[in-house]
Amino acid sequence: MNSRKQLIAGNWKMFMNTQQAREFALDFQGRVADVTDKEIVICAPFTALHVLKEEWEEGIIHIGAQDVFYQKEGAYTGEISPAMLVDLACTYVIIGHSERRGYLKENDELIAQKIKAALENNLKPILCVGENLSQREDGKALSFVRSQVEKDLSELSSSDIGKIVIAYEPVWAIGTGKTASPQDAQEMCAAIRSTLAGIAGAAANNIQILYGGSVKADNIKELTKKKDIDGALVGGASLDPKQFADLIHNA
Ligand code: PEP
Repeated sequence: MNSRKQLIAGNWKMFMNTQQAREFALDFQGRVADVTDKEIVICAPFTALHVLKEEWEEGIIHIGAQDVFYQKEGAYTGEISPAMLVDLACTYVIIGHSERRGYLKENDELIAQKIKAALENNLKPILCVGENLSQREDGKALSFVRSQVEKDLSELSSSDIGKIVIAYEPVWAIGTGKTASPQDAQEMCAAIRSTLAGIAGAAANNIQILYGGSVKADNIKELTKKKDIDGALVGGASLDPKQFADLIHNA
């Protein structure tokens, strides 16, 4: 038996100004008010977080950010600390998204520091891992993702590892309309869980592992039916309140 609740997280990426965020917030909350069996998170741009705090702080929808820096405060121009996110009512933060690993050249060492700092401030990290197309075609996907998990969690104690969420997001499936087959996604999520068990023991059984990559209202169910897939990280389909609420209801 495990205690894993489904988690559906939206990643707005660099979309939504403050007015759009407010319109979304007011519309979406009514659409998911009946959802008690799943955790819902929206990870918004830093500039929209205060709007979500105003609209949702008391409600059932969790607020998340899309990145965080690892220092408490100081001369780090442009960066945002974990405590600043907590001040904006964030309880989750995406760390190591493939777009940041790619465009911003974030490496596993930096990601490991960010995860540690987030946990020290009671922010739940959603760690993103996933292979690119050539790694999959070369049969290296499993070993690559396992090593990402090991490196990114290397700064944590076993008990802290039990507090994170992992999102398996094959890079070739993000924003492309191509979704991993439920079988392939399950195989990878099971491999991630066994890697977690190797480093954190029984705690691995309670860690939520999400799939991400072109998830929509009409393909979510076949993914979440799988034993080791505990929800989804959703980009494009989280930008429309009706579409995202339908996806959550179908999960
Ligand atoms: C993402 O941004 O993490 C993502 C999975 O995007 P999309 O759902 O648009 O593929």
